[in-house]
Amino acid sequence: MPRSFVREARKRVGPKRDRITPIIERLKAEHADAGIALRFRTDVELLVSVMLSAQTTDVNVNRVTERLFVKYRRPEDYLAVPSEELERDIFATGFFRQKTKSIRGTMQMLLDDYGGEVPRQMDDLLRLPGVARKTANVVAAELGEPQGIVVDTHVRRLSQRLGLTRQEDPVKIERDLMRLVPRERWGVFPHLLIWHGRRVCDARRPECDRCVLNDLCPSSRVEVMPAVGDS
Ligand code: SF4
Repeated sequence: MPRSFVREARKRVGPKRDRITPIIERLKAEHADAGIALRFRTDVELLVSVMLSAQTTDVNVNRVTERLFVKYRRPEDYLAVPSEELERDIFATGFFRQKTKSIRGTMQMLLDDYGGEVPRQMDDLLRLPGVARKTANVVAAELGEPQGIVVDTHVRRLSQRLGLTRQEDPVKIERDLMRLVPRERWGVFPHLLIWHGRRVCDARRPECDRCVLNDLCPSSRVEVMPAVGDS
């Protein structure tokens, strides 16, 4: 897109600080059901589900955990079987050897350092083996204590298209979003972008003509009528 066109588009939609609240409100109305798609009943199941979801779909994880969580209920259960057995049980989620190692290491640390409970602070979550920033952010948010904003492929793409960040690096995108999005919305905001990304703002074929944000989005492909009096 030529630079002058991008500048024009940014001017048309106005500053991001003025747009962020209507963006959130409209997405909340449009995707009232937006939330985590993983199925879990306990904090430990949440943590395991999120760890298993790396490099695969939530649907696939749910298929595997439906049976997994009948067999493994407490942190001790993941340590009571040989690694090979857990590897077999999570095989269908991919990267099963690495995931088994991370889950067993994490369960051991939960028992050793946290009384078998999932901690809620980012610093503690990030100590767990195989738990990186994205996983820690998802878990903290679902436990009701968001301390950052989850940036996945949808959040990254939509934040860029909506002109909320010019960054490419997820950590820098998160920093931009944390400055912009009101703190009480940090938990829900990524879900709204993820669901909008899945349903409307597809990576290859965004459906701008039926997008509720098309007048607030500098990347909209919908033709904008000039205001009366414009030449
Ligand atoms: S207007 Fe188009 S590019 Fe912008 S958020 Fe909507 S679908 Fe995506």
